[in-house]
Amino acid sequence: MAIDALHRTLGVHRVLEPPGVLPQAATRLDPDPRIGPDEVRIAVSRLNLDAASFRQLSEAHGGDGDAVRAAVLGIVESRGKMHNPVTGSGGMLVGVVEEVGPRSPLGLVPGDPVATLVSLTLTPLRITDGLARWDGRGEQVPTSGTAILFARSIAAVLPDDVPQQVALAVLDVCGAPAATERVVHRAGHRPSVAVLGAAGKSGCLSLAAARDARAGRLVGVVRDATEATALRAAGLADDVVVADATDPLAVAAAVGEPVDVTVVCVDVPGAEHGAVLATAEGGTVVFFSMATSFSAAALGAEGMAADVTMLVGNGYTPGHAALALDLYRRTPGVRALIDPRVAR
Ligand code: NAP
Repeated sequence: MAIDALHRTLGVHRVLEPPGVLPQAATRLDPDPRIGPDEVRIAVSRLNLDAASFRQLSEAHGGDGDAVRAAVLGIVESRGKMHNPVTGSGGMLVGVVEEVGPRSPLGLVPGDPVATLVSLTLTPLRITDGLARWDGRGEQVPTSGTAILFARSIAAVLPDDVPQQVALAVLDVCGAPAATERVVHRAGHRPSVAVLGAAGKSGCLSLAAARDARAGRLVGVVRDATEATALRAAGLADDVVVADATDPLAVAAAVGEPVDVTVVCVDVPGAEHGAVLATAEGGTVVFFSMATSFSAAALGAEGMAADVTMLVGNGYTPGHAALALDLYRRTPGVRALIDPRVAR
């Protein structure tokens, strides 16, 4: 593909600052709702803020919802996208397709209810209601505005059998079960798997994916006794253990016999070393959490002389959206853990 065509396909023409980078790395995008020939405009109805991003904003403002709302509005207005400058993460959105450029390859038609499967950190976004309907106290943000999809910005038409807020939450983290399934398959015969943050959305989907992929012993690491009770009731893990994921020795002690695969699904920084310690020599750690520090993981593993493969949890794997929705539909334990989180 010619460079100028690639340029448009990836949305580089929407980058205002700094010149030459892709939209994800941009400090500012142009959210103009007028579309180019290969773009799609979505009338936005709801954002799902990335869990690590929402937690950071909430903690930074002492849980003051009005201040969190003002902060999110400020980020979108100044950056033309919802890209948290501290966590570097975004989330995704749902809405209805409003206009499709004649050369868009996405196969969408006006009126389609869709969820974007690309991060808000690269999606041009304009908010038009001042976030007036959001109290700033949850990851899901009811709103009005417009978002732009590029030719390479994948989106899923929303299913009509799953409530929209649930679909949004499941699709936001659909990369986690897909990555887990792939790693379990590649690991060979029935690898043991530990999931940190196992009672959360990506965590429970990852446990269900590992079980489906015929993993061996499944260990769910959770924050406290309340989450342990909920995860045991969900029946997704063989062992449910309580440990602070940011305490490496506590994680290693709780997991016990090191596992072949560890999946990090917490929404807080500092889980790198515990994940490495819990993983057997030659094993694999999937860092799905956006709160992961690449340097802490790499240098920490080196410092422990740990021969583990470390994977960055790519949010995209072919078929990831369908896989996650399917796990949600047919796994009562996943529904039991995700539904109350969405209703909060
Ligand atoms: P979630 O539903 O909030 O789950 C996070 C879980 O971790 C919660 O159960 C939470 O417990 C638990 N936790 C928090 N701190 C802990 C600690 N110190 N020790 C043990 N457990 C702890 O979050 P999610 O939506 O699944 O997202 C999880 C991560 O995935 C986030 O970091 C997010 O950035 C990342 N993510 C990555 C991608 C990607 O493309 N790679 C896409 C979307 C999201 P409490 O609820 O009690 O706090």
